[in-house]
Amino acid sequence: MPKVDDVGQVRFMNQKYASASVVVLGGGIAGLACAYVLSQSGHRVTVFEKSRGVGGRMSTRRGDGWQCDHGAPYFLARDPSFASEVARWMAAGAVAPWHARVVSIAPHAPPEALPPVTRYVGVPGMTMPARLLSKGINTVTSATINELVREGGSWRLSSTESGLIDERFDVVVVGVPSPQAVPLLDCAAPELARAAARARMRPVWVVMAQCEADPALGFDAAVVNEGPLGWIANDNSKPGRAGHGTWALHASSTWTEAHLEDEPADVVHALVAAFRELGGPAVRTAIAHRWRYAHPLETKGEGAPGYMWRAQDGVGVCGDWLAGGGVEGAWLSGNRLGAAIQQSWTDPACANRAETVLARQYS
Ligand SMILES: Cc1cc2nc3c(=O)[nH]c(=O)nc-3n(C[C@H](O)[C@H](O)[C@H](O)COP(=O)(O)OP(=O)(O)OC[C@H]3O[C@@H](n4cnc5c(N)ncnc54)[C@H](O)[C@@H]3O)c2cc1C
Repeated sequence: MPKVDDVGQVRFMNQKYASASVVVLGGGIAGLACAYVLSQSGHRVTVFEKSRGVGGRMSTRRGDGWQCDHGAPYFLARDPSFASEVARWMAAGAVAPWHARVVSIAPHAPPEALPPVTRYVGVPGMTMPARLLSKGINTVTSATINELVREGGSWRLSSTESGLIDERFDVVVVGVPSPQAVPLLDCAAPELARAAARARMRPVWVVMAQCEADPALGFDAAVVNEGPLGWIANDNSKPGRAGHGTWALHASSTWTEAHLEDEPADVVHALVAAFRELGGPAVRTAIAHRWRYAHPLETKGEGAPGYMWRAQDGVGVCGDWLAGGGVEGAWLSGNRLGAAIQQSWTDPACANRAETVLARQYS
């Protein structure tokens, strides 16, 4: 950890931080983008992820002869730095463009084709970019961190599964959805916890439906502006997918909020009925998944740094909710945080700008 002197300035400690120990909480694309930058810069990085694998909301469920991306269905790459990262993922075979016919469906009107845009998907599933980023990084899965403890100038963690973890870290990076960041930051960095508490997130119910036959709807995916649905997509229209006739049916956030505590069977019933009304084929089997924190309610991406970083305490925060939302926002947030941490160790002028970052973001 950089030391803070009498006037609250972070002292530049170039030598020691040539190889710091960093812990990242959350193996989503934001946390892993940050982990990747710091690991490439020569730091010792460990990622703790509460699920059984990495990817977070870039997620693929697999069943008997089928698979379905039940989190983010695709992503865009508008920012030049993200576009060049996506090109790297494509070269590694982890990502491909999805040439989908996407329409907009509104009441009492024929489906209208949306303007062409390049959409990208992980291949063979949405977790692939996260798996590529985590290669070579010490990643501990099924580890739910529930407390950050400051001890003698370093950080220790406690997990639900194993209690207090022996290892100590110079820096902790929190890369989880804002509501889940709040309890982690509450004692460790109350100011950052308050900022996270102001960033609300919206839920989405998703039904993964196995259909009787491949439907001839005339489109691969649709933005739906009526009834409970918000988005539907034929998963098998994506490159490299196994099986056939798998559709992801996303409820709108508004409908989800009104049905947040419904039984999954009732959600399946409602979303499949709406799908059938749009001309969808008969559904053989279906399961529902609830994302309590799917999308940030609002994002403050414009002009903001896209992360929070307190060099004084060695605490950083990244996630889609800090940088414009979506996969692109999440990656930008983690990537920029990693660069800012690295810069605060190599450039003394940057080490003291931490508070400014927070104030600009949430003013
Ligand atoms: C239904 C749905 C549709 C979407 N559609 C799109 C879309 O069309 N395009 C697009 O670009 N984006 C879309 N998104 C959003 C996109 O998936 C996210 O913006 C992005 O994946 C967020 O990445 P992240 O790393 O910030 O967070 P996450 O992916 O949520 O990663 C956070 C990780 O932290 C872990 N974690 C949480 N708490 C703890 C803890 N205490 N200890 C350890 N680990 C913890 C979680 O398990 C998770 O793996 C969609 C998301 C959903 C759910």
